[in-house]
Amino acid sequence: MSGETVDEGTVIADARNRVEARRRALLQPVVNATGVIVHTNLGRAPLSLDALDAVRDVASGYSNLEYRLPEGERGSRHDHAGALLAQACGAEAGLVVNNNAAAVLLCLGALARGREVVVSRGELVEIGGGFRVPEIMAESGCVLIEVGTTNRTRVSDYAARLRDETALVLKVHASNYRMIGFTEAAPVDELAALGPPVMVDAGSGLLDDTTPWLPHRPTWLHDEPGVRQALDAGAAVVTFSGDKLLGGPQAGVIVGKAELIETIARHPLARALRADKMTLAALQHVAFAYLAGDARSIPLWRMAMASLDELRARAEQIATAVPRAKVVDTEAVAGGGSLPGLTIPSVGVAIEVSSVDRALAALRDHQIVGRAERDTVVADLRTVDPTDDDRLIDALRGVLGTLDVA
Ligand SMILES: *Cc1c(COP(=O)(O)O)cnc(C)c1O
Repeated sequence: MSGETVDEGTVIADARNRVEARRRALLQPVVNATGVIVHTNLGRAPLSLDALDAVRDVASGYSNLEYRLPEGERGSRHDHAGALLAQACGAEAGLVVNNNAAAVLLCLGALARGREVVVSRGELVEIGGGFRVPEIMAESGCVLIEVGTTNRTRVSDYAARLRDETALVLKVHASNYRMIGFTEAAPVDELAALGPPVMVDAGSGLLDDTTPWLPHRPTWLHDEPGVRQALDAGAAVVTFSGDKLLGGPQAGVIVGKAELIETIARHPLARALRADKMTLAALQHVAFAYLAGDARSIPLWRMAMASLDELRARAEQIATAVPRAKVVDTEAVAGGGSLPGLTIPSVGVAIEVSSVDRALAALRDHQIVGRAERDTVVADLRTVDPTDDDRLIDALRGVLGTLDVA
């Protein structure tokens, strides 16, 4: 810049751009028009306003977080959400930590440090964002004993490697990938009969495979495993995420046998990985919804179960208000590492544009994340809250205003 003269207007414009760039980097709400319900990059499961009220009530003042009101004595932060979630899936006890990666690390550290954990070669998976089963096992200080092959592992493979040093048999839900063809895996009930406690990392947190909180079981859930079913089959501990198919805040939930949960809660890592009162307040609210058998207050299930008629009616309204927008049938997905390849029929609006990249960027300027399909931008309405439809209309009009559409 030396020797160059800059005028006032350039300096002001430059400052504006920098402020704008800073503003965009701030944590802020966005409209998820991708159709991916549990979108890891967009904050996973949204929370209901009622759950947030519960957070505000607990966190804006003092609470009985670690205090027993009847006795006036020190209590445990696991007495609330952890206990209720355990009840909701039929476990003896439960506790909550920061996320499911923490839950797995803590369980392995507390129950198997310095001892052997037997796991199938088909389940040594990477879930994404740095969660790799062999690495977590190494961090926990347990000794990984691999059995079977990538595609087939039998109960006899586990049985052949059990010794006095075996602390746990571990089963990991492969979540975001699926093997087809010549495959075989050992069911939890047969593994439980071998002797050592079976730990199941269920991942998604589908509390009960029969979804008693819904009017019917959605077909797209396919064979997603339920936490209750793993416990019924004899799993001693089950871990899962709070913000995938459970539909709660970021958390890791550990449920299972009371004796093991106590051992886990006493481990020093439990303190380092514990959940805070805001998470626990939101999770308690979510646990109540499941215990009441009514998941309508959980945004994830509301979005997942919205009828096609409802979505189509909204899409038609938007398409009427936005020139060149068309109503289209789309495919949404559950996301969050669950159910690869399984889609949820959905409806959206599509606009043909000359540059899909520029159109998506222009939508992002309005804090709206859409998706591209060939030469159209698509806003899938399954993941858009109906109260955001007007915002979507304004943004889509804005995009058309700034772009020469096809
Ligand atoms: C998602 C997932 C994890 C990681 O859970 P976070 O809550 O994201 O830490 C671990 N294991 C399985 C099987 C998962 O699906």
